[in-house]
Amino acid sequence: MNALNADLHCHSTASDGTLTPAEVVRRAAANGVDLLALTDHDELLGLPEAAATAAELGLRFVPGVEISVSWLDQTLHIIGLGIDPSNAALIEGLAKVRGGRDGRAARIAAELERIGIRGAMEGALRYAGNPALVSRAHFARFLVEIGASRNVHDVFLHYLARGKPGYVEHVWATLEDAVGWIKGAGGLAVIAHPGRYRLSHAEMDILFDRFRELGGDAVEVACGAHDGGQLLAFARLARKFGLMASRASDFHGPEDSPIDLGRADPLPPDLTPVWTRLN
Ligand code: AMP
Ligand code: MN
Ligand code: MN
Ligand code: MN
Repeated sequence: MNALNADLHCHSTASDGTLTPAEVVRRAAANGVDLLALTDHDELLGLPEAAATAAELGLRFVPGVEISVSWLDQTLHIIGLGIDPSNAALIEGLAKVRGGRDGRAARIAAELERIGIRGAMEGALRYAGNPALVSRAHFARFLVEIGASRNVHDVFLHYLARGKPGYVEHVWATLEDAVGWIKGAGGLAVIAHPGRYRLSHAEMDILFDRFRELGGDAVEVACGAHDGGQLLAFARLARKFGLMASRASDFHGPEDSPIDLGRADPLPPDLTPVWTRLN
């Protein structure tokens, strides 16, 4: 176990989590988390409530965000940690990224309608705690509700992943902008769950190199999306590119996540944890 139980990536109802920010913080404290970052998708709305609850409980809290990025032909997620939530360029940039979500959601609903699934927009919105932030996770919960699939995992296999009938292409922020907004707001930039991206070894190297060049700080090595082999592979890449390492559950809710808050694997001891640079 790392000396500190840090969990630097999770979601609340401000994006596609199922617990409110206060509930996320209380659950983290109950799970023995010592240092928590709330990192909702493209959104800072949950941070004040989370920070206030953390202060009440005496839990160390880091304001964060997970920014959606288009790079090559992939969607990547870049985490910002320790950002100033009042930074104007960050607020404006995130508003622009969120602004694209409504039209995308309408296009997803239209694609689902073509295969006979009606009412998906209204259905997804019923699950969205923040109407400005409709995510595929909300569509997934609606599709499970109507019995299209048994669970959220199967929905992504059959409907919402690229190449499936409910998937639409979308252009998010650029990597340059996302890292720039995070660094400009005094934060540390972290590549989220790299094991999820469909990139060749050469492309992954180009990504890490470019990220480093832009001022990127760290990579999620231990995270809910990684198996043991991926943890070791991304630990190697962190060493190769001189990046710090992060530890993250990517918790979305008790029924929606493979691992709970604070339960990611420990980091390999030779890596520099990104939290050594927080506060
Ligand atoms: P979006 O940002 O709207 O494209 O939605 C992405 C979100 O969908 C992720 O943050 C996850 O919460 C969820 N998601 C994506 N792929 C999967 C999957 N294979 N299984 C379960 N949830 C997924
Ligand atoms: Mn999500
Ligand atoms: Mn993500
Ligand atoms: Mn996430």
